[in-house]
Amino acid sequence: MSSRRIGLGIPKPRTTDDAAPELPDTSDRPTTPALADRFGRAATDLRMSLTDFCNLRCTYCMPASGLTFLNKDQMLSPEEVVRLVRIGVERLGIEQVRFTGGEPLTRPDLEEIIAGVAALTPRPDISLTTNAIGLDHRASRLREAGLDRINVSLDSVVSETFERLSRRPLLHRVLAGIDGAQQAGLDPIKINAVLLPGVNDHELPELLDWCLSRDLQLRVIEQMPLDADHIWDRTSMITAADVHAMLRPSYELTPVAEDRNGAPAELFEVTDRLTGRHRGRVGIIASVTEPFCADCRRTRLTAEGRVRTCLFSREETDLRGTLRSEADDEAIAEIWRAAQWGKKAGHGMDRADFVQPERPMSAIGG
Ligand code: SAM
Ligand code: SF4
Repeated sequence: MSSRRIGLGIPKPRTTDDAAPELPDTSDRPTTPALADRFGRAATDLRMSLTDFCNLRCTYCMPASGLTFLNKDQMLSPEEVVRLVRIGVERLGIEQVRFTGGEPLTRPDLEEIIAGVAALTPRPDISLTTNAIGLDHRASRLREAGLDRINVSLDSVVSETFERLSRRPLLHRVLAGIDGAQQAGLDPIKINAVLLPGVNDHELPELLDWCLSRDLQLRVIEQMPLDADHIWDRTSMITAADVHAMLRPSYELTPVAEDRNGAPAELFEVTDRLTGRHRGRVGIIASVTEPFCADCRRTRLTAEGRVRTCLFSREETDLRGTLRSEADDEAIAEIWRAAQWGKKAGHGMDRADFVQPERPMSAIGG
């Protein structure tokens, strides 16, 4: 990796559709090639959105209608995605890449992107967050291309509840996708669930049982204020403490005695109270009530090539303009480093002056 100091000599993008990125002050930044920030953290985990489009309309994420989506030219091409990831792994210390969206499976070139990233040296760990619609037809090809792991979002295994949450009657397609992923040998498969009060929270023990009996690891995510409809309500959201209370009658949860290593999920061993049988593990991601910002190792890129240092950032730094100019890799790396240096200490959800970001989760990349 290079060790140039940043702050000087960053070329302005030469394309007309992208403004020159506004960068934070980096005069106090030490000389390090890593994606460091002022709070002693270094990002090694890249979360990259491949599209803002989706074939579901989950109420906690997207509006029912009214969003305009990026067109093909606005989104990064497969070559551009692979180049940015290459810069990340070769120059900035990125070790893991997770592709997300929007729905990444709506990109027909996903296999090409994954194969390009899998060919990099050093090869990063490659994972995907998806709603699994269409995965049954693509899981083998994605695995062959180099996909290491997937997380599938599934908030309910009851058709009516699924439709109420996602505004689409497509539970059967998600279940087929999960089956296809298992048949293709993708392992582990984690299931992400967001619980909404009065909608699917009462189904949690059933959803956990469904996952455990299929060797799938459920991860319950606290709902965050990132929905287009602004339905999030701090006072009624389902918290990690609520999750424990809902599972307690059926299951005993024992914390897993392993270092979390910056992972957002707190893991628990699950024992069936009735039979005393160990059933597997469950993860709880308490982003709102137990923030893990001090340990965050993440940097984000949106589908149009903007760096976001946090889900809750209110600033973004464009890389696409520089990428589409004749700038070399190091010039792009310098902009990325400068953006990351401006990462805030925390997401600030617990502060009275917290303001929800303008982009919904689907347009950030969850
Ligand atoms: N479409 C893919 C999917 O649903 O898995 C990838 C994108 S989605 C934005 C990524 C993850 O963000 C999903 O697991 C989803 O449940 C989660 N998510 C979306 N909106 C959220 C919110 N407001 N709070 C917490 N998690 C959210
Ligand atoms: Fe689509 Fe994923 Fe958002 Fe649901 S959570 S609307 S599947 S992007």
